Amino acid sequence: MRLRRVSDLRGPPTEGLVMSVQNVQVLAELHESIRSCVQCPLYQSRTHAVPGEGDPRAAMMLVGEAPGEVEDRQGRPFVGPSGRFLNSLLEQNGVNREEVFITNSVKCRPPNNRFPHAKELEVCKQHWLLRQIELVDPKLIVLLGRAPLRQLLGEEGTITRLHGQFLRKDGRLYLIQYHPAAGLRSPEVRATMQQDFQKIKEADKQ
Ligand code: URA
Repeated sequence: MRLRRVSDLRGPPTEGLVMSVQNVQVLAELHESIRSCVQCPLYQSRTHAVPGEGDPRAAMMLVGEAPGEVEDRQGRPFVGPSGRFLNSLLEQNGVNREEVFITNSVKCRPPNNRFPHAKELEVCKQHWLLRQIELVDPKLIVLLGRAPLRQLLGEEGTITRLHGQFLRKDGRLYLIQYHPAAGLRSPEVRATMQQDFQKIKEADKQ
């Protein structure tokens, strides 16, 4: 996939530029609100909320599950072991982490890294994730694991069947991937993920 800025793809250049500058500002304000969010009980045990980071006009957005211990400490997504593996998967496909936008289904770490509850997924989607998607307006959304698959596409526990596939919903293009932590646990999944990630180059053809 050729990663193009959304502003290049819309209308006359000045119009696109003004629009995207405004969006960058709104996204920054949204992230400030996420940092002080108290919409679900997860705020009680967090150190830092983790809004997400990257190019606010990225053509590709990646959505993980939830911050882990390192992310909770630093307030940044995918900066622990899963993040290192994710960075390598991106690099192997010629994608620099700085040119994508990375976030999570829920912005606060669940106690003991438990899977987010359905209510937490829904609240975080309605308050924050859908707005982030609208503002960044990516051409491709890569779903990392079961949490974003359930949260954004309403699919339950079917990652082993759907991984590596593109899906379109409400005009948006999604690519389904295992969560990087699964690749760290299993050499077979790691090899599968290395293959599946090559699909990002095919997004333009979808
Ligand atoms: N796992 C996730 O799903 N997200 C992170 O940010 C880190 C680990």
